[in-house]
Amino acid sequence: MSNGYGHFIKGEAIEGKSGRHQDVFNPSTGEISGRVALANASELDQAVASARAALPAWASMNPQRRARVLFKFKQLVESRADDLAQLLSAEHGKVLADAHGDIQRGLDVIEFACGIPHLLKGEYTQGAGPGIDVYSMRQPVGVVAGITPFNFPAMIPMWMFGVAIATGCTFILKPSEKDPGVPLLLAELMTQAGAPAGVLNVINGDKQVVDAIVSHPLIRAVSFVGSSDIAHYVYRGCAESGKRVQAMGGAKNHGIILPDADLDQAVKDIAGAAYGSAGERCMALSAVVAVGDQTANRFIEAMREELSNLRVGISTDPQADYGPVISAVHKERVENYIAMGAAEGADLICDGRGFSLQGYENGFYIGPTLFDHVRPEMQSYQDEIFGPVLQVLREDDPEQAIRLASDHQYGNGVALFTRDGGAARDFAQRVNVGMVGINVPIPVPVAYHSFGGWKRSAFGDTNQHGMEGVRFYTQTKTVTQRWPDGPTGQAAFNIPLMD
Ligand code: NAD
Repeated sequence: MSNGYGHFIKGEAIEGKSGRHQDVFNPSTGEISGRVALANASELDQAVASARAALPAWASMNPQRRARVLFKFKQLVESRADDLAQLLSAEHGKVLADAHGDIQRGLDVIEFACGIPHLLKGEYTQGAGPGIDVYSMRQPVGVVAGITPFNFPAMIPMWMFGVAIATGCTFILKPSEKDPGVPLLLAELMTQAGAPAGVLNVINGDKQVVDAIVSHPLIRAVSFVGSSDIAHYVYRGCAESGKRVQAMGGAKNHGIILPDADLDQAVKDIAGAAYGSAGERCMALSAVVAVGDQTANRFIEAMREELSNLRVGISTDPQADYGPVISAVHKERVENYIAMGAAEGADLICDGRGFSLQGYENGFYIGPTLFDHVRPEMQSYQDEIFGPVLQVLREDDPEQAIRLASDHQYGNGVALFTRDGGAARDFAQRVNVGMVGINVPIPVPVAYHSFGGWKRSAFGDTNQHGMEGVRFYTQTKTVTQRWPDGPTGQAAFNIPLMD
């Protein structure tokens, strides 16, 4: 059955009116499964009007009551987890177990946001001067928007709207046009949970509506997650129009294997982190730096063996380790990178091009691909590939391995595999990357810490969720108060001092 996706504004699903649409695919079969409306600026205006109308009552509601809506939302999502996972897996292509993980990592942030009464407590100083007390409070920024990528259609929207609406903001979500089904369903569930109409709106679309969001005078802040060039574009546009902005971008995450590492475990960990979700994770481990030729040789042999047992399948195949990539265009892009790596002189140990799944020949599949002897100057190493492709570099000196991760244009995640606590501690201190794993291949921080990379992996200076998320969606107001009860004082013409 084909789905027609519109928008969700003022508590209701509505049809798109712009006349522009885009097909939605089932990547496992390569068939069109639906059609999504692409909004124009006037449809965005409706969403903004809805969010503005809802703002005063929502922002002034006591935080405990807002938290109750989130508690209820969490229950509803849990009760619909199977439907959500089916839909997510059908439109994205990630396997069902991984789709459940996508939903659960989003719910972790909802759980964190349920603690909002505590998180919004301000600061107080009694007696900051004679008869003077000072207090500060965190107030919601206002109407805010989130623009999200295709690869986590449940988790990343929940990172954003969970925290934003908990703080008292009202929200406009612009999900990826490639898999819009889950975000729309989440908005419906939020309304069922008791969020008043207009607190959470979803507007589907492409560049046209992103540009309208970025320049909209009534949207106060924009959270973006996607590829780096677009992140930078959104960051610049929001700065130009005077908005608060956080814009997370792409990645090339290194796994560094020291000679003393538990190699058998490292191979298992890296296989999952490199190929899980067909490598379409911003925290995928896509480059390994093996320290010493012996480590590299053992790693390549063990990984080759691991890949011979790896199963690529349709997203609902419970035995599949990973499914298709998101689109035919993306499949071609990844395959072009494989060709580039080979042309640049890297050793192509396993070539995933031309992979075909019997019965699903039109699906967007790429087999697991492994390169050895990759060099830092290769373009295929410098760019993000975002597919099931692992590139292995060899270095004799651990310092040089750290330098590779530190000097790379991206700085999202990095993992070190070792048994040496001192080396690990020193590495964590010095490496120029935002999220570090020590024998942990995908170091995505838990919800009550913050998620964010460095360098071209993130523009702006606050991370997603955790206290940084709360800070992003709130502004601090500081009140200095005195209640004079003595004789009238003199006029003071100098800057007031507190003594
Ligand atoms: P994308 O940049 O193509 O799209 C992200 C969003 O931007 C979508 O909502 C899309 O509609 C919009 N967009 C696309 N082209 C645009 C344009 N020209 N102008 C304005 N808006 C535009 O990213 P994607 O392919 O959906 O997602 C994959 C990328 O996201 C990868 O680079 C991945 O590393 C990155 N990502 C980063 C993080 C992180 O937290 N750092 C998390 C997940 C994904």
